[in-house]
Amino acid sequence: MEKDNLDSLRQQIRGVTADIMQKIQQRMDLAKQIGDVKSKMNIDVKDEKVEQEVRLAVMKQAEELGMDKDFALRLLGILLSESETVQAMGRKPTAPKQTHLGIFQKARQLEESGKKMIHLEVGEPDYPAPESVGNALSAAFRSKKYHYTETAGMPQLRNAIAKIAGVGRDEVIVTPGGRFAVFSAIAGLVKPGQEIITIEPAWPAYRECAEFVGAKARVLKTTFESQWTPDLSELESLVNGGTKMIAINYPNNPTGKTIDRKTLSAIVSIAQKHDLYLLSDEVYSEYAFGQFHSVLGFGYEKSIVVSSFSKTYAMTGFRIGHAIASPDIIKKMTKVQAVGVTSVAEPIQHAAMAALSEDASANIRLVEKRLKFVCSKLDQMGLKFVKPTGAMYVYPQLPFGEDMPIVESLLEKGLAIAPGSGFGDSYSGFVRISACRPEDELAGGLEILSSVLRAA
Ligand code: PLP
Repeated sequence: MEKDNLDSLRQQIRGVTADIMQKIQQRMDLAKQIGDVKSKMNIDVKDEKVEQEVRLAVMKQAEELGMDKDFALRLLGILLSESETVQAMGRKPTAPKQTHLGIFQKARQLEESGKKMIHLEVGEPDYPAPESVGNALSAAFRSKKYHYTETAGMPQLRNAIAKIAGVGRDEVIVTPGGRFAVFSAIAGLVKPGQEIITIEPAWPAYRECAEFVGAKARVLKTTFESQWTPDLSELESLVNGGTKMIAINYPNNPTGKTIDRKTLSAIVSIAQKHDLYLLSDEVYSEYAFGQFHSVLGFGYEKSIVVSSFSKTYAMTGFRIGHAIASPDIIKKMTKVQAVGVTSVAEPIQHAAMAALSEDASANIRLVEKRLKFVCSKLDQMGLKFVKPTGAMYVYPQLPFGEDMPIVESLLEKGLAIAPGSGFGDSYSGFVRISACRPEDELAGGLEILSSVLRAA
């Protein structure tokens, strides 16, 4: 009897699945037709207004049907993004964007073929990691401390980080670099079909991680004219039923902007009002040349604060960072880390432990001095930029033309800098210069930039 019932239910569910598949294909066919019409009318594939209307209708229908609203919006998110892909087919493909890392690889290839190169494209400190870090690393080897550890990090390291931040150990996860903390936060908290908001120009990883997990990155663009200040009402207008997270980064890569407490507080309030996660990438927190305000100071239970040993202690190749969030969020991030990496290498955790007692202020002063030097040279060249108040970069506006041809000619002349468009679609009129090299190299690099701009 039960068996017959099960068979009948299975039969019905197969029928419903077949109906859904048919409807989806019908939707895709319609999307294709809409794409053709838009193409003929020469209008953009994306139409946020129409998307929002569909979203509202789906939310209403979900409510009427007694369907989980979150689930309905995730399904819709997947359908919308597939529609976008179908509609964009047949349009001229946009050239793949070059990021600072792409330029770094190109510069390396040129060096291999014997060319001398000045590297101002990556944010990699040239000063050494503290001596104590190396000592801790070799001590770990000698005492055979090279085993798997707890996925979220060795308890003593988590304790030490927790003590400095004034939080509990279960609010800390040690990650293989700040980048993986960003990844595990997004992969652990955002589902396919959902959305995150990023503020551009931005380090590309937030958008990349979101897209990698099948989510959508909705972008708040900031402008040179407004000194890269986020427009808060515009930020709030980007929130919709599918939004799960806002990602911010101050001091900012690439602009060097820091944020005042009032603006940060307003961003926290927006996240709170809409029940969103707030991912605050604070890997440059030590490189704030004025007062630094951390999201941690607001005690928002859905915040995730990312930090790194890479920049503060010049430990980029050690691949270690950490994040602070509620125990529940840390558990979700730990799950991602367990799947992906088991744990950060134990000797590296011992090295990081040693770094925590080091004073990095000389590194910070050095970068600040170099940034001032770069700014004074850019001033002499007549280039416009917003004076950085943190991080390691200046993001000047090009006096004419687009970034890529200029970046390519600079590479030929022995200078690598990052194209502005690698940090967002609207920024091909900018380039990013990293102040991680000694002043004589910075001067040499800027001389090349000046001569290429003069000759163009
Ligand atoms: N966050 C930002 C804003 C960065 O610019 C970088 C590296 O350039 C990172 C995170 C990654 O740092 P890590 O080396 O700790 O992965």
